[in-house]
Amino acid sequence: MLYSVSDVVSALETIAPPAYQESYDNARLLTGNPANQVTGIICSLDVTEAVVQEAIEMGCNLIVAHHPIIFKGLKSLTGKDYIERTVIKAIKNDIAIYAIHTNLDHVQHGVNKKICDMLGLVHPKILAPKPNLLMKLTTFVPIESTESILRALDQAGAGRIGNYSSCSFQVAGTGTFKPSEEANPTIGRKEELTRVAETRIEVLFPAHLKNTILKALKEAHPYEEVAYYLQNLENENQEVGSGMVGELEHPMEEAAFLHHLKKAMNLRVVKHTALQNKPIQKIAVCGGAGIFLLSAAKRAQADIFITADVKYHEYFDADNQLIIADIGHYESEIYTKELLLEFLSQKFSNIALYLTKIVTNPITYI
Ligand SMILES: [Zn+2]
Repeated sequence: MLYSVSDVVSALETIAPPAYQESYDNARLLTGNPANQVTGIICSLDVTEAVVQEAIEMGCNLIVAHHPIIFKGLKSLTGKDYIERTVIKAIKNDIAIYAIHTNLDHVQHGVNKKICDMLGLVHPKILAPKPNLLMKLTTFVPIESTESILRALDQAGAGRIGNYSSCSFQVAGTGTFKPSEEANPTIGRKEELTRVAETRIEVLFPAHLKNTILKALKEAHPYEEVAYYLQNLENENQEVGSGMVGELEHPMEEAAFLHHLKKAMNLRVVKHTALQNKPIQKIAVCGGAGIFLLSAAKRAQADIFITADVKYHEYFDADNQLIIADIGHYESEIYTKELLLEFLSQKFSNIALYLTKIVTNPITYI
């Protein structure tokens, strides 16, 4: 079976919908023709000229990367900096670049779950769930169509809450309507008031699935005109948001934990604030620059917050309430390429998949 770039993009967008990215982000297909047939994929944290060269040499025409090489608008493409040179090289060699960035940070099985897994944490959950990503559909259906419509809504992605699927609320009642002369009613006659035993169905769904859900509803519903309400919900979506918090099965002494962290994540350096002389059990993590989550980590009563890109004054904010540990941006996210490869290998068993061998970390240590 042959796959196009857009087949791979759609599969990636089912695990990390673009709607979940931050407003400043640019997670998307950045270069390449979506209709091109994929010859092989390289998974990488960053895209540099060296990674594009590697793709050429490996016969791969798709690079799936975490960081978008095109982040701000490009007003010219002359090769004056590494960004433009990388983009030009990709385009000249017909190589597609797909970036899966903060949307992958924000999903339950994304960047932060990978860190939790590497540290052996149990009960991982999103540290700062995002509000305003859920909607509610209320609709009215003839009683005999209740099950088939619920099934259609379920298949379209409605009614999932945490570990539960097919979640709905139903109540029986009476619907009334009078079809006009122009109508083509499924039940009742033109110009006659009709009363029908109906079910009122309420289901939640992720807002980005709105069009899919409405299409499924209209296709499954027997009426010519389907009555429904949509509501935006302020509820947080517990499965989408920044950072993650999990626990060690057995508490560890602080120094022992820091050594465990170093070994598990293959780190040369961990920069951290003062030890608190109490065991570590609850651990907050955020791959990349995550210090904006410090108060969320404190609220979650984490013993340590592991992230990167912490500035001098921000370390003071630990304020003897927890340990802040900076493990480096690259180091915190480098295993994201493995996460991408694992996902792609489940979906596309016959596409050649590789992890980049290029070390793209711009920081070195002496
Ligand atoms: Zn990053």
